Amino acid sequence: MRRLRNVKIVATLGPASSTYETIRALFEAGADVFRLNMSHGTHEDIRARHEIIRKVEADTGRPIAILADLQGPKLRVGTFANDSEDLVEGAHFRLDLSEVPGDATRVQLPHPEIFAALETGSSLLVNDGKIRLKVETCGKDFAECVVTVGGTISNRKGVNVPDVLLPLAALSQKDRKDLDFACDLGIEWLALSFVQRPEDVIEARALANGRATIIAKIEKPAALKNYEAILAVADGIMVARGDLGVELPVTSVPPIQKRLVRLARAAAKPVIVATQMLESMIESPIPTRAEVSDVATAIYEGADAIMLSAESAAGKYPIEAVTTMNNTAISVESDPTYREVIEASRRTNRITVADGIVAAAREIAEAADIKAICCFSQTGTTVSLVARERPRVPIIALTPLTSTARRLCLTWGTTCVISEEQDRFKGAVIAAVRAARQTGIATEKDQIVLTAGVPFNVQGTTNILRVAPCDERLIYRAEPE
Ligand code: PEP
Repeated sequence: MRRLRNVKIVATLGPASSTYETIRALFEAGADVFRLNMSHGTHEDIRARHEIIRKVEADTGRPIAILADLQGPKLRVGTFANDSEDLVEGAHFRLDLSEVPGDATRVQLPHPEIFAALETGSSLLVNDGKIRLKVETCGKDFAECVVTVGGTISNRKGVNVPDVLLPLAALSQKDRKDLDFACDLGIEWLALSFVQRPEDVIEARALANGRATIIAKIEKPAALKNYEAILAVADGIMVARGDLGVELPVTSVPPIQKRLVRLARAAAKPVIVATQMLESMIESPIPTRAEVSDVATAIYEGADAIMLSAESAAGKYPIEAVTTMNNTAISVESDPTYREVIEASRRTNRITVADGIVAAAREIAEAADIKAICCFSQTGTTVSLVARERPRVPIIALTPLTSTARRLCLTWGTTCVISEEQDRFKGAVIAAVRAARQTGIATEKDQIVLTAGVPFNVQGTTNILRVAPCDERLIYRAEPE
């Protein structure tokens, strides 16, 4: 079984998708990466889903990546004496640190760090942006606001503060516990919410301590401002359109998505487009035309992966949602316009030896009748460089490291194969042609392109490009040791 598309599918697991049968069916329908959302469910729920994914992996013999998504700090107002109040536009409303239950004129906001960062004119958004407040005056323990968009405010509603860089770490105490728990279970990717600065990613990486690689979720205006610096230290990016659309006008999300995807691809780092891609499929087996078009747009833009959230975690039609993404991808990727767009946006400056080798591998593979680009990789770096080329032929990543094979399941166009460690070039060629044939990508009559680094098993040595026949007898005859 191999995928007939290049873009990868991330499916979030939840109550609608926690049995072996459903998770296996999601995988067979096309899910390449499973997301465990640490905002929902107990550690025991997460552990059980993790165990099932690993069983599906063992039973199918195909690597699967697991992404644990950390919740990030949640800012909330306190409680009200009447549980809720209606705020009308133009009214004055005060936020402060007092624990006295709130009324129509004030409520507690138990976060002194927010007051320290607010300025006159700052906006505060309550309940996913449904209520908007503008700060008129503020001090270290209060903010006097005017209501610019009214609505009902109730106990412990969430607060967003989009205009200011909050002096808050991206990792709460809960996140730190969740991070350790998920890393100890054995996951490949950690997605970090509430990222504002590169330091947030650096801190998460230090805590993960080699146990997982880090996806920075871009969901705050501060992260957009610091995007290049965050991208430089992250291993991957998630365009978290849910929170982006709260903190910024929803109409600004499409151009932001384009920019984030383009720069992540240029940096050869996987980028996931997330949230509400097939929202109506939570309740309906058929998506709207606009949703399919949204999925298609992310694929045309060259995203590495597209993501399902509630559709697969809590919806009525999780398998149908994955199938819809899979079929949309097959349709888009066979469109000649898709190739034109993807090739027009290819980076052309080649800086390193590895850049040159992967570009040459793609050109040879596309000019001659070559069925795959096979890549021996320890860390996956060379595979990411090949994926950045967005070649017309499949990429086969060969690695002795299970963790690398799993992690690369998120990378565009890559089929991952765990292969024995190689110390001879001839052995590497044979392993590559066997992988190409076993995955059904090539037959004995075909040829592949192979990239590798000699000496083997040393990071960052990609220095070989070889065209090889898939007929092993020819290899034994022609290949030097
Ligand atoms: C998002 O905001 O789009 C997102 C993916 O994050 P969360 O899961 O926190 O909603």
